[in-house]
Amino acid sequence: CFDALRGALGDCSCNVDTIDYFNNVKIFPRIQSLVSKDYFRFYKVNLKKECPFWADDSRCAMKYCHIKTCAKESVPGYANGYNNDHDYEAPEMKYLKEAQTECSTDEDHNPDLGYLNMTISAASQFEIAKWNAHDSALENFCECDDRDAEAEYVDLSLNPERYTGYKGSSAHRIWRSIYQENCFRPRLNPYESFPYVLSSDLSNMCLEKRVFYRAISGLHSSINIHLCSNYLLSEKGVGFAAPPEGEWGPNLAEFQRRFDPSQTHGEGPNWLKNLYFVYLLEMRALAKAGPYLETEEYFTGNPTEDEETQEAISNMLSVIYTFPDHFNESSMFNGGSQAAKLKNEFREHFWNISRIMDCVGCDKCKLWGKLQTQGLGTALKILFSSQWDSLEGDPEQGKLPVRHKANKRLQRTEIVALFNAFARLSNSIRQLENFRIMLSANKEPE
Ligand code: FAD
Repeated sequence: CFDALRGALGDCSCNVDTIDYFNNVKIFPRIQSLVSKDYFRFYKVNLKKECPFWADDSRCAMKYCHIKTCAKESVPGYANGYNNDHDYEAPEMKYLKEAQTECSTDEDHNPDLGYLNMTISAASQFEIAKWNAHDSALENFCECDDRDAEAEYVDLSLNPERYTGYKGSSAHRIWRSIYQENCFRPRLNPYESFPYVLSSDLSNMCLEKRVFYRAISGLHSSINIHLCSNYLLSEKGVGFAAPPEGEWGPNLAEFQRRFDPSQTHGEGPNWLKNLYFVYLLEMRALAKAGPYLETEEYFTGNPTEDEETQEAISNMLSVIYTFPDHFNESSMFNGGSQAAKLKNEFREHFWNISRIMDCVGCDKCKLWGKLQTQGLGTALKILFSSQWDSLEGDPEQGKLPVRHKANKRLQRTEIVALFNAFARLSNSIRQLENFRIMLSANKEPE
């Protein structure tokens, strides 16, 4: 499958080899070190939400699906403000408060000349914050559920994404619903079975729908590469109560079964190309939001750690800005009311996919599925919602100018998901290199 993977990626002016080098040498070490920092390690998520689409079959019984959650008090900095109240004070409220203070101290101001009355009652402030929250929800591509009463903190480093044994009809129902119901399917695969979408049909789709399909397929590839590269090679632990011990490592045969053209109706290499495609898409979102991300505090209550995190972010972004062929989102959704309608459909389809994640029948798969969907949803929001387009960027670097601090635009949970999702894609591309080496070693004569 690696021979067919060479060359142009399609839908952008990039090729696979450029990304391999850039990721494996420059991005991979940086992003892996970044997501091991406290700020990115703890993800708050509701894994107990009911499946909204069908009777829930998600009572997970497999021991490798088990998740270790942590008490919120054990999350660094929680007591000092690393909590939802701190995080969710509506940014608009903060802005209004600051604006009012500035007005009242402005003594040179002539009240008769164009005076802007900034006196807003507390009740109206509350209403405005509600309107703004509503408006920004319209710009979101997925639901944030970290404020739910049942949401819990998970230490991602203790719950690595790997083989869990989740497969069969439950897993297939999820993927089928994602592709068949939510992916702007070009036309039914005549056999109504696998693969759900034939890559040859993509040329009949418009760019926007193709991008949507490719992003989902790339995410699917990444999930499956992780389970192949961190596979249960032999089992040591016994019984449900026993900690899941065993020998974990790459399984080349499993990888080939999933991606070799001869075993996938020729589709495997296209699915791998879609991984590179979604990687480019998320990387472009990071570049676009870069100047804003550089102003974040990454607060954990430990000033040294927070400063190191900020430095690591700036360092990684400075490398990302140098990438020569960023994904160009400006070619999408052009063309008046039809384009606006299409963008809305795009957002709604993605929203549905994020809700399907609540139907995943394995807690560990659900955790990583939700995190990666939220990360991709955040990237799409950065690329496609007007909130992020309202400023002219620096075309040289594809950046937006730094915004006033009060206009904080991403929630903590979105930032954590965005970087961790990108780290997963980066790791998948790195793992492909390992499989490539294993394959060529297998081919060498004895
Ligand atoms: P599946 O991966 O189930 O795919 C079904 C069909 O989709 C394939 O037959 C093929 O026709 C098509 N297809 C496959 N890949 C692509 C692609 N990239 N693009 C387009 N079409 C494709 N299992 C784990 O062990 N660990 C995990 O962490 C994990 N996380 C998961 C998260 C989610 C959200 C879901 C839905 C499943 C997860 N799984 C996980 C299960 C795993 O993804 C597979 O479903 C399972 O291993 C069964 O694989 P399969 O060979 O039957 O094909």
